[in-house]
Amino acid sequence: MSRVEITNIRLKRIETKLDPPFHAAWDPVPRRSFEATLVFVDTDEGITGVASGDTMSGFEEYEHLFVGKDSLRISRHVRTLETIALHAGKFWPVEAALWDILGKVAGQSVATLFGGSEEKIPAYASCGELKPPEERAESALALREEGFRAMKIRIAPNRLEEGIKTVEAARGAVGDTMEIMVDLNEAWRMAGDTSRSIDPKAARDIAERLEELDVFWLEEPLPLTDIEGLRSIRAGSGMRVAGGEMSRTTSELFACLEADTLDVYQPDVLVSIGMTRSRTIAELALAKNRLFTPHTWTNGVGVLANLHVTAGVGGGPFIEFPYDPPGWTPERRDFMLAEPLKIDDEGCLAIPGLPGLGAILDEKYS
Ligand SMILES: [Mg+2]
Repeated sequence: MSRVEITNIRLKRIETKLDPPFHAAWDPVPRRSFEATLVFVDTDEGITGVASGDTMSGFEEYEHLFVGKDSLRISRHVRTLETIALHAGKFWPVEAALWDILGKVAGQSVATLFGGSEEKIPAYASCGELKPPEERAESALALREEGFRAMKIRIAPNRLEEGIKTVEAARGAVGDTMEIMVDLNEAWRMAGDTSRSIDPKAARDIAERLEELDVFWLEEPLPLTDIEGLRSIRAGSGMRVAGGEMSRTTSELFACLEADTLDVYQPDVLVSIGMTRSRTIAELALAKNRLFTPHTWTNGVGVLANLHVTAGVGGGPFIEFPYDPPGWTPERRDFMLAEPLKIDDEGCLAIPGLPGLGAILDEKYS
């Protein structure tokens, strides 16, 4: 099979109602529904690649750049997607669907195609809601009971004292039996949210207080463009700094690598720079003795695509598992999958034993 031609790219927009709503810490608007766009890339060999993770709004105009081409020439398609990203959206789910095809053609998981370093990665429960300290302490204990060895807590910079008390309460509850990460979400905003980021002094003060609580990393304390600010946090507090989940270009992350502003590189392979380019950043970060563990907060298919790249290149030490019951559950997150993704009894997320990405869609969406 030397050529597997793309015959059609189909988009399917689906949604599930969220009742009660989910109060995402980074979104001023409560979420009453959760949308996903499934991307199906059909080929003349009868193999269809499936992915999801970004809106794909406006992609229809560019479909003709792929149809009739060989699906296996992924680097060519990545360069095409980069040219499109200059003018329109980031359509990286198309790349993920192409890797799904290649995996199915080769009879191998995408993780194997990306280097096959690991078969599973310890998951961290990535909490999405702001909860009062007592409630977050209870949630930390429940997560540990379920097998998680790490969790991430959000702090709203305008509710700083409450946020730090929340981390204190979680640390008090679990002692040193779990790693705790903290996300300040100061690098980007939802469309229409024009509030400014905190400044380096405020971020350094937070970092120093979190360092005393033995926080494993501090995520997005400042915009990535604040090179000196980020470096001053790393140097001043000794805290690991994480970021890059929504970087729009590979060169933004090259700049971080060059200036050494981050300890943890997190480009999401579906909403940031794609799988191939994330691998480049991951390899460079790992070669510099920095960490690579991407943002995965999209849906179950997005978690899988990020898991394959992370396991392939040997990233970690944890993979993000968006999970904050009862607001955010595997059933809500993975509503498009036949079975929601679950951690195993060692608290790890394993590569599915299937070729490609291994996303099995719920019958009504396939
Ligand atoms: Mg984040």
